[in-house]
Amino acid sequence: MKIYNTLTRKVEELKPISDRKINMFVCGPTVYDYAHIGNARTYINFDFFVKYLRFRGFDVFYLQNITDIDDKIIARSKERMISWETLAKEYEEKYYEDMAALGVTAVAEYARATDYIPQIVRQVKILLEKGYAYKTSDGVYYDIFKFADYGKLSGRTEADQNAGVSRIDESLDKKNKNDFALWKFSRPDEPSWETELGRGRPGWHIEDTAITEAHFGSQYDIHGAAVDLMFPHHEAEIAQMEAISGKKPLAKYWMHAAFLNMNSQKMSKSKGNFTTAREATQKWGVRLLRFFFISSHYRTVLDYSEASLEQAKGALERLDGFILKIDKTKEDDISQLKTEVLAALDNDFDTPKALAVLFDYIRDNRDKAGKNAYAFLQELNAVFGFLIFEKEVPEEIQKLINKREALRKEKKYAEADKLREEIEAKGYKIEDRAIK
Ligand code: AMP
Repeated sequence: MKIYNTLTRKVEELKPISDRKINMFVCGPTVYDYAHIGNARTYINFDFFVKYLRFRGFDVFYLQNITDIDDKIIARSKERMISWETLAKEYEEKYYEDMAALGVTAVAEYARATDYIPQIVRQVKILLEKGYAYKTSDGVYYDIFKFADYGKLSGRTEADQNAGVSRIDESLDKKNKNDFALWKFSRPDEPSWETELGRGRPGWHIEDTAITEAHFGSQYDIHGAAVDLMFPHHEAEIAQMEAISGKKPLAKYWMHAAFLNMNSQKMSKSKGNFTTAREATQKWGVRLLRFFFISSHYRTVLDYSEASLEQAKGALERLDGFILKIDKTKEDDISQLKTEVLAALDNDFDTPKALAVLFDYIRDNRDKAGKNAYAFLQELNAVFGFLIFEKEVPEEIQKLINKREALRKEKKYAEADKLREEIEAKGYKIEDRAIK
């Protein structure tokens, strides 16, 4: 299995720190609003990676954080005149609902930032003691010039105004422009924790290293997110944990997924150009969204538009049509199909290649596919989550079925039979089974 490692800028053989065990961390959401469909692209991709790695025999522990304290949460809760806890809880719940609706089920544990305050304080104290951090009037900051490797992941040490940058901490008296906050002294009307560092709240970057150290220790296998978090967020995580432990690298493999754009611009909550994951799931359905995201390569920028989803719909319908017609009693040889699909997926999750192989196969094997193809597609679907093996019943038909059931209960058999005829005329067969 090979994956592209941002840290080395190479496609590398995946060799976990310990045998087949993989400890993996992906940056989770900041819970002040609904997840948008760009966030969903990233989470569907990582869900797919983890499921595929498990399918290939790795024992993956997949950890995600929930940022439940942050400037954006505080600002939004003030706007809505509710407490920050109520707001964060509300959107954390909505996030879980949205992920469940998208078939994102691979995460083993979610860790809330506010449940790790003692671990955060401990890390900040060590950074102060070791001379990497300093206090100002408004918090504790990390001096990026104290850490020689700062910039090794992203190739930069300063925010580039033209590139995707996330959250630089503003402060009047910090030493260097790009020093970042580890701990923020809170104003009286802001959420705070009374700690040895003073009354305050954590900076954004420190929550992730406190959480990963608590679960995995100072080093682990894979760290993931989309490219916007590479700088300064991931750079800051490296600076924090590697300075604390003296060990490097923090994560052996860094995976960065490309953006989902909307009208060629990065979709983002702060710009307001977004569609929520919830709206998109209602409109397009989970199968089509998973197919749309998984079938494009995770390191390629993708544009979200009606036209691209309609196109994906056509392709998915071809797959559905093929699977529904497979004669499951037939013996077939799928060795080439299997080898080529798995080889593509083993090569940095090359899904466009794997799907091209699959589409070639369905074009050439309409009458030859049998039980082995069917079983292989079922295996793949545990990872993909976008195939179907039985005809879906359209809503219109389901309504007629429900109506007929009601009539039968009322013993109005003649009317029920009429409905049966109507349903059958639309191409669906009803089988009534006696309930014992
Ligand atoms: P946030 O809630 O903004 O911290 O983002 C949550 C996750 O979604 C992070 O892994 C981001 O890197 C990712 N993300 C944010 N915007 C996009 C986008 N437009 N396309 C893909 N992933 C994104």
